[in-house]
Amino acid sequence: MSPGEGEISWWGDIKIGAGGTASERALALIHEKVHLFFVPKLYIFRNIRVPYRAGYYVNSSLFRYFEEMLAELIAQVTVNGFRGIGIGVRFPLANGYMYLLRSGAEPYFAGRKGRGIIIEGAGLMTTVLLSGISFQLWFKEGTLPDAERRSDQ
Ligand SMILES: [Zn+2]
Repeated sequence: MSPGEGEISWWGDIKIGAGGTASERALALIHEKVHLFFVPKLYIFRNIRVPYRAGYYVNSSLFRYFEEMLAELIAQVTVNGFRGIGIGVRFPLANGYMYLLRSGAEPYFAGRKGRGIIIEGAGLMTTVLLSGISFQLWFKEGTLPDAERRSDQ
């Protein structure tokens, strides 16, 4: 771990790298504490809920984007004020947490998967917007005009 960087385990144990400036360490700590907010803490079914959340994080670019963006946005605004908003919103894209179209992530983050935020977002929109609409397909028995012509020759 580099100086002033932070990491959190799936179970919520936070580590902050020694060294770096005080504001770098503060940014890292606040960032990891936002992740900690999403870690299941209540003991009921915790052995199931923690791997379930980890599965979402590893397999979805969209989920990763929102969690990392929120974590960095809150950290940046707390430490640097509102001029940190742009850094927070760009953070997941700039640091290889997700892609717009390509699946997977940087080789360093090979364990992280997902189809890209645009494809996942489109899937989410169709599920949310179109799931309530029913479609009916009507069939008429017969042969296609092209097929009929070909059989004549
Ligand atoms: Zn993070």
